[in-house]
Amino acid sequence: MLRKQDRRADARRAIRHPPPPGPSPHPKLQLESAMRKSLIRPPLALGLALFSGWLAASPMTNLLGQLSQFDYQDYVGNLQAFGTRYFNTQGNVKATNYLADTLNSFGLSVRQDAFDYGGTRYNVEATLPGLVTPNQIFIIGAHFDSTSNDPQTNAPGADDNASGTAAMLEIASVLSQYQFASTIRFIGFNAEEQGLIGSNAYAAAAQVRGDTIVGMLNLDMIAYTAGLATQDLEVMGDKWLVDRFIADAATYVPGLLTQAWYGDYYGSDHYYFHSSRYPGSSSLFGIEDTATDIWSNSNPYYHKTTDTADRLDYGFAYKVTQASAATLADLAGLIPEPPIMLLLLPGLLLAARGRRVH
Ligand SMILES: [Zn+2]
Repeated sequence: MLRKQDRRADARRAIRHPPPPGPSPHPKLQLESAMRKSLIRPPLALGLALFSGWLAASPMTNLLGQLSQFDYQDYVGNLQAFGTRYFNTQGNVKATNYLADTLNSFGLSVRQDAFDYGGTRYNVEATLPGLVTPNQIFIIGAHFDSTSNDPQTNAPGADDNASGTAAMLEIASVLSQYQFASTIRFIGFNAEEQGLIGSNAYAAAAQVRGDTIVGMLNLDMIAYTAGLATQDLEVMGDKWLVDRFIADAATYVPGLLTQAWYGDYYGSDHYYFHSSRYPGSSSLFGIEDTATDIWSNSNPYYHKTTDTADRLDYGFAYKVTQASAATLADLAGLIPEPPIMLLLLPGLLLAARGRRVH
């Protein structure tokens, strides 16, 4: 993730060094000259071309373009490499620390959220504070524990749920580079497979604290398609939030097929953030499906040692990651980046003027 920041920093360094200005003629002549000739000066022409490009690409498009399918794939592989992430194993502890270290590397403030379930376990929470309405909180969450028919030693949990966890991490890596009106929390939930234990504990504590959670997006199994191009994402939960996700997906990721399910569904970590259980909050659950019936004909490797990374559809998962990032950025109120080309224009004008030596 540092790679992304480095690329951005390099790009800024590279364009922040206009040629040094030469001798300056009378100010009035400077202005007339700039008006008359500036458009044909190479540095200014380049500046205007870049500026037009910047205007053409919206801040949201720029943000979504930063999401990397390669990084997403790396996260899935790294999570599977722990062997098992079953709640009471060393692999689970390693995965907990991996999430904390990774989120911390994005410059986010990270907290390991302890709860008791046959010992002390942890959810991992990273916070990006909002600049305008910091008390309004939006969450993207995914459970990182896994299970299988051999949970103590072999539970790769690639689709369930390295796929959602990797999306949460990749979205955190990009959104952490931007500013938002409201606060965003990126959360890895633990012990989901034992009955939503970690998310239940988190939501209960958040209600006691009085956290104003407005919207919660939960991703759980978002990367299996059985090779079907007709695969869609089921988006289930509070109506306004489901509608918002589907509208943002249609706008920014038109290649992603979605299906809305309005209501109060069990089955994953959105459950304790639903409006009926957390006053003021709304939540949704994004999950892949290959059939019109949500629970039939889904991943045949579900909860087996064969739920491995090589069986996933990374193109599909990337679209779900983009749609989730767009919805989260839309909800939290993306504040456009400082318009770098606008800041550079005076320098480019100076450069063009400076070269006009009589
Ligand atoms: Zn799951």
